[in-house]
Formats: sequence, structure tokens, C-alpha cells
Amino acid sequence: MKTLPSLALGAAFLAGLAANAASAAELSAASAARHAQASYREYFDLLTLPNDAIVPADVRRNVEFLEASFRKRGFATQQLANDGKPMLFAELPGADPQRKTVLFYMHLDGQPVIPEQWAQKSPWIPVLKRRTAQGEWEEIDSARLFDGPVDPEWRVFGRSSADDKAPIMMFLSAIDALRADGAALGVNVKVVLDSEEEKGSPSIGKVMAAHRDLLRSDAIVIHDGPMHATNRPTLIFGNRGAAKAALTVYGAKVALHSGHYGNYSPNPAQRLATLLASMKDDRGRVTVPGYYDRVKLGEAERRIMAAVPDDEAAMRKRLGIAKPDAVGANYQEAMQYPSLNVRGMASAAVGDKVANIVPNAAVAELDLRTTPDSDARYLGGLIEAHLRKQGYHLVPGAPTDDDRARYEKLASFSYQGEGGNAAGTPIDSAVGQWAYEAMVEAFGAKPEPVRIRMMGGTVPTAEIVEALRVPFAIVPLVNADNNQHASNENMRMGNYLDGIRTIYSLVTRPF
Ligand SMILES: [Zn+2]
Repeated sequence: MKTLPSLALGAAFLAGLAANAASAAELSAASAARHAQASYREYFDLLTLPNDAIVPADVRRNVEFLEASFRKRGFATQQLANDGKPMLFAELPGADPQRKTVLFYMHLDGQPVIPEQWAQKSPWIPVLKRRTAQGEWEEIDSARLFDGPVDPEWRVFGRSSADDKAPIMMFLSAIDALRADGAALGVNVKVVLDSEEEKGSPSIGKVMAAHRDLLRSDAIVIHDGPMHATNRPTLIFGNRGAAKAALTVYGAKVALHSGHYGNYSPNPAQRLATLLASMKDDRGRVTVPGYYDRVKLGEAERRIMAAVPDDEAAMRKRLGIAKPDAVGANYQEAMQYPSLNVRGMASAAVGDKVANIVPNAAVAELDLRTTPDSDARYLGGLIEAHLRKQGYHLVPGAPTDDDRARYEKLASFSYQGEGGNAAGTPIDSAVGQWAYEAMVEAFGAKPEPVRIRMMGGTVPTAEIVEALRVPFAIVPLVNADNNQHASNENMRMGNYLDGIRTIYSLVTRPF
């Protein structure tokens, strides 16, 4: 049993309580606009630096530029070696052990470009555009961004203007505002800028493991990806992972004349169709036993998902479908479950090349979206067991004559992770609560920030958080219609201002 706390300890404890009760400092829209404006030249300069991680020298130029940007604002910085494409670490000095430490993750690399697909001179020469009454984007003098009033609907076009250089500049700008206001930090601030996110962050686990002490934190905030389409403040707590699988059903040794052998030699295309039909029902629900068993959704989570303002009628219209699969009660709920998707099928030929044959094999390529509790191994194992139960003998590749003589039904099935694991943090985790409150502080409780339990697509969150083993929240800051990864990527200035306010609120709010 420990002794009672001394007076000094007691006072520190009370001070800690007071700090916890304190709220975030608020940055007015006008003040955010002023600091944003002061950052636009630096933002433009940053956007002129090509950043496809295929070229290490380009990555290094971005790292050096940003290292200077962070140092200028008083950060201590360090380049984290990564095979010639360093990541950048930055930390605000004066960390207080009474405060929690938050590691902010963003990435400085970008997708490749195809310049001729862009409606501007070069993806590396950013331009300012506004929408005409006819809905077209027209270029205007970018000098208007540097002084004079800025229309929140204007957009900056250029590679990485949104993904993910805008959040980095918003972050720097929020620190400028904090310094100008003399506002106090609510958390200790660390930053890591990934240099290979668009390549799937292949070595981030290694880099993070090599700098575990430097990167030690109580939570990770990831500023990446688009906000909800409504532009309401958005919080994301996880993402599905991805795995690929291939299923091949074998028939006779060679394709056969369908007149002489139809009704006699079994057709593998038909059998593949039967197998696939045994794996999913007509409502789109996977019928492989156990497939959904590990997904547990509580009432509170269902309520939060139902509150996400998705316009599903508009979505169905855009997709051209009358009715969605019956996996979840709504779009958000459907994303909480692992998927089993046929992404391609082939057997013999169709169209001009079709012939009157019984094919000798049929193949289906699948992709399985995984969840934190249902990884590729688990799902692949269930499918394999299901195939065996349908009477199939599974072979590792083309069957031997011996296999052919012994087994009536022959197939091969393989699966492996592809593009990252799933990751998830509980919605009611401390970091989720803290980020939610910071957003309410900045933008008010109504309309409520959008909370997404798990998004459907795959991003390298798991690789980042697995290495450091701390809870995380994804706080996307850029407009949903930013043409991320495509040509004419753009950043809406209104989102730039809101992003600065969000970050300001996060770094000044204790948790
Ligand atoms: Zn990104």
C-alpha cells in the first residue's frame, strides 16, 4: 500500500483535474482566415514539389522543405531513415508529463500523375479556380489568394493539393495561430509525415519500430482521406482490410466437343457457378458458415451509424441499383461486415471467340474485405472448409492424373492479404471522445460531427497503429469531391479554414 499523497502531489493532482476540465481554445473563423492566408504562399511552394515516392530524390526535396517549415515554427525535427525516402518526425519542445501526448500522422508523398489529363499547365504548378454559373471550373489569378478576401468556394488545383499536403499546411497554420494567440497546448504534440503512403507504406512498421521511443504517444490522430460528403466534421474509427482469393474448378483434361461430350463430361463453369451460389444468397448475404459471426454491433453503435447523414436514395440512383444487398440495415452497417466479392470470372471464351465446347476449367477471382476480428486467415479458412463440405477435393494447382482418377470434384483455392489489414478503435475510446469534443467545441453540437465506425475501403492504418499499439482516430479534413488520386485534384478553401480550426481545437484540448 502506498503512503498518502504529499501536499505537493495532491496539488499536482488537482492541477491535473483542472487541466482535464479545461476546454479547447477556440479559433474564430476570421482569425483562421487570416492565418490561412499567411500560409498560402508556402502551400503553393510545397505543391510545386513533385512527390511520387517512386523518385527518392523528390521525396527528399519535400522532406527538406517541410523540415524547414516545422523548424521555423519551433519544432525539433528528425528525418527517419527509410531506404533513401526518409519520413519526417517533428515535436514541439517543452513536453509536459502531466499532459497526454498525441502523434499526428500525415503523408507528404502523392499519387503519380498523367499531366495531359489535367486541365492546367502542369499538376506541379498549382492554380486557383472558381466555378462559373455554368458549373465549369475557370482559372483566376492566384495572387487573389495571397491578399484580399478569399471565397470559401474557390479551390486550389494541383497534385496533393488535398491528399495530403493540405492537412500538413493546415497543421502548420494552426500552430501559427496558437503562437499568435499565446494559447496553451492541451496535449504534447508530435508529428510524423509518411513518405510512402500512396505505395501502401510498405516499411512503416519497420521505421516505427526503429523509433519507438521517439514516437511514443497516448494516441494517434490521422489526418488523411476525405470528410463526409456533407462537409460536416468527420471522425473515423477504423477501416476494413483487403485480401484476395482465387477459386479454380477443374473439368476434363482438355476442352471437349459439346456435342459428343455434353451430358457426359461435367462442366466446370456450371460447377463454379453452383459453388459460388452456395456461398451467398440472393439477398447478397454470405452463407459460408461463421462468416459474419465475429462482428458484434451494440445498440449505441447502431444508433451512431444510423445517424450518419448518407443520402442512400441518391447513392442508389447514382449507382443505378434499385435495392442494396441486405447485409446491413444501412450503408454504414454494411461496411462493418467482411465481404466476399467476385471481382472476375473466366472460363473458355465469350463473344467472337466462343466455341461449342465443354470448358476444361473455370476460375473466379475474389476479394475479401476483412475486419479487425475477421482477418484473411479466418475468412479464407471458412471458405476452404465450406468448399470441402460441398464435396470438393482441394489441390494446390492443376490436378495430377492420380487426383483425376480418385476424386469426382476437384478445385484449387488460394488466398492472401493484399493492401493492408483492417483496423479499428472503439467509438467510445478516450481519443474518440476527446476528438469528438474538440470538434463540438470548434463547430458546435448541431449538426453533430459525423462518426464512422469503420469505412469500407482499405488504408494503411493497421500498419501504422500495429507498430505503436496505441488507440487512434482518423480526422479527415479535405472536401470529399477533391478528385483524390485522379487528375484535377483540388482543395476547397472553406475546408482549409475549417481544418485549421479543427487542429487548433485538438491541440489545445486536454484529454
Ligand atoms: Zn492520403
